[in-house]
Amino acid sequence: MANRQNLDELRLAVRGKGLRATPSRLAVLELLRSTDTPMSHGDVADRLDTQAWDRATIYRNLTDLAEVGLVRRTDIGDHVWRFEALSEAHESVSHPHFVCTECGIVECMPEIELAIRRAKAPRAVKQRQVEVHVRGLCDACI
Ligand SMILES: [Zn+2]
Ligand SMILES: [Zn+2]
Repeated sequence: MANRQNLDELRLAVRGKGLRATPSRLAVLELLRSTDTPMSHGDVADRLDTQAWDRATIYRNLTDLAEVGLVRRTDIGDHVWRFEALSEAHESVSHPHFVCTECGIVECMPEIELAIRRAKAPRAVKQRQVEVHVRGLCDACI
């Protein structure tokens, strides 16, 4: 569980967005902040299953955190939402995600500049309201 200072930080972040700092919400945010890969609701629930919270509560926490912008929701194409914490270190600007076509592991990739400013492209692409997914084999599967 979070140390004191860390917990205060989490509380401030959650309250700063107008949400109540419930223990489950803080734990969900802490977990997402401590990992550098996006996690599905199932992943998060599995990691927190020593706690008494049911999966519906955890799901609600994830969607609440996503709505206020502390967490980003990504669908890498398999119709499963994956959640990742947003912070200054983990830019809120969309970054691409690498998806292994063999084992399904998802990894965050450094931001890439899309050279599309002058190219013909839908407005959403120019405004960067799109998600970029890179597919291939991860180091373990290659
Ligand atoms: Zn793999
Ligand atoms: Zn990411």
